Amino acid sequence: MLSVQQALDFLLTAARPVTDTEVIPTLAANGRVLAADQSSLLNVPPMDNTSMDGYAVRAADCVLPAVTMPVSQRIPAGHVGQALQPGTAARIFTGAMIPAGADAVVMQEMCEFHKDEAGDRVTIRHSPQSGEWIRRAGEDIRAGSVILPAGTRLRAQELGLAASVGLASLPVVRRLRAAVFFTGDELAMPGEELKPGAIYNSNRFTLRALLENLGCEIADYGIVPDTLEATRDTLRRAAQDNDLIITSGGVSVGEEDHIKPAVEAEGRLNMWQIAVKPGKPLAFGEVNRQQGQEQGADKGAAWFLGLPGNPVSSLVTFMLFVRPFILRLQGVDKVAPQACMMRADFEWPKADRRNEFLRARINDSGGLDLFPNQSSGVLTSTVWGDGLVDNPAGTTIARGDSVRFLPFHSLLY
Ligand code: AMP
Ligand code: MG
Repeated sequence: MLSVQQALDFLLTAARPVTDTEVIPTLAANGRVLAADQSSLLNVPPMDNTSMDGYAVRAADCVLPAVTMPVSQRIPAGHVGQALQPGTAARIFTGAMIPAGADAVVMQEMCEFHKDEAGDRVTIRHSPQSGEWIRRAGEDIRAGSVILPAGTRLRAQELGLAASVGLASLPVVRRLRAAVFFTGDELAMPGEELKPGAIYNSNRFTLRALLENLGCEIADYGIVPDTLEATRDTLRRAAQDNDLIITSGGVSVGEEDHIKPAVEAEGRLNMWQIAVKPGKPLAFGEVNRQQGQEQGADKGAAWFLGLPGNPVSSLVTFMLFVRPFILRLQGVDKVAPQACMMRADFEWPKADRRNEFLRARINDSGGLDLFPNQSSGVLTSTVWGDGLVDNPAGTTIARGDSVRFLPFHSLLY
């Protein structure tokens, strides 16, 4: 049996990132992967500006207990003032550019404005430090610096940052094309009548959502009968136009499991037994393309990943192995999920030979509770839970132990 890490290393070494890129509007780039480093052409903020409504002054003019001086101008945000004459103040509003000659802003709460025959004047009862309430040009970003490296997945924050330096479009890796199909004569679709012996094809919904979260284009070949011919035929068709093929079920080595012989006949296959629970069988290989079909992650073949049929096994195997593999194909650098150490408020007295991934939920006192039924068919555990406890092979857990926790939000996207 392979360890989780060995299987993952094998997958990540094999993955050759897609090299096709396209330039798209920044507004349409949510979830895409940046194909080249992006630098800022400007300072952010572009000019010294005030972070308060108040009066721009020369700090040295503001002596205590109070000083009264003429208000020489009014500078709203987006307007450029005149140079400030010594001994005068400029009314200024948040975001407005600091006029030449001023070196501080006094917030309006510390000032008193008068209007009389002598004109507009302000009494200031504060002696500011030089630089007070001024946001300096380039304080956030220096012109020329790399703000987003290639391989970054673009989320709300990255898009905002790109827009803040004026990037209207971005070079991104083209979307991956993922084919899916589902083996099992027992499978029916929701909306259909459930005949005796049948179950609903829940994996279709789980796997498609997982692929959508990762920004893949999906070609869905639906339910494929448990025969060698149907499986081979679907593999051949799916390989033509897709970068990778993902299936559920049929990866054991029973008489009704046709994935292994089918992929071997159409390409190459590794059948792995991984020391993981839920999970264990995982098929990884390639399905050849007909000649003349040269697009895709790998020129002459589509990647193949066969997941187990049990719904929780299928979900967890995707999270642990398929997600990082897909991210690497997309050129993403950081493919490991974010993990944290948390306190177990449960016990797990029986060690397993395999690395277990237990469905757990964060409780109100900052610890983890365990779902009572950890069986690989129990999808309710995945809805109840907030994530997975990564329990190494041969390990028991006592109440109060620190355990490694992988939140679902770091495994789903
Ligand atoms: P298999 O891996 O084909 O041996 O299937 C293992 C278990 O998962 C069996 O109980 C199947 O009925 C179930 N199963 C297989 N495919 C699916 C699916 N697409 N949705 C839900 N359950 C499935
Ligand atoms: Mg089956």
